[in-house]
Amino acid sequence: MKSIFTRIIEREIPSDIVYEQDNIIVIKDIAPKAKTHLLIIPKKEIPSINEIQKEDSDLIAELFFVAKKMAYDLNIQQGYQLKFHVWALWGQEVMHLHLHLLSNI
Ligand code: 5GP
Repeated sequence: MKSIFTRIIEREIPSDIVYEQDNIIVIKDIAPKAKTHLLIIPKKEIPSINEIQKEDSDLIAELFFVAKKMAYDLNIQQGYQLKFHVWALWGQEVMHLHLHLLSNI
């Protein structure tokens, strides 16, 4: 079964898309926990950090470069948080890897 984020990537369900490139999409979180709350999502369906493989190295690094780009584009580069929840006991609800970018600037 496709993840909810794959369904967003494939435009099956609507979302506020802020940025997209061949292998990554950035959307606004539907229930923001800060003034800015973006989700930086690889299009590849990797469930979580626990399942990343060496072959994903470039993609994982790219998530951080996209995060930096978003921070500069939104002019919040003076202060923001990046985080991954990993599996259910630390609150991961959607089992499709995503990097949270939060800021209150
Ligand atoms: P997790 O807890 O898995 O790290 O974070 C999942 C995030 O995805 C949550 O912050 C939640 O609000 C967000 N989310 C869940 N479903 C949707 C959706 O359909 N659209 C968007 N834009 N965000 C979603």
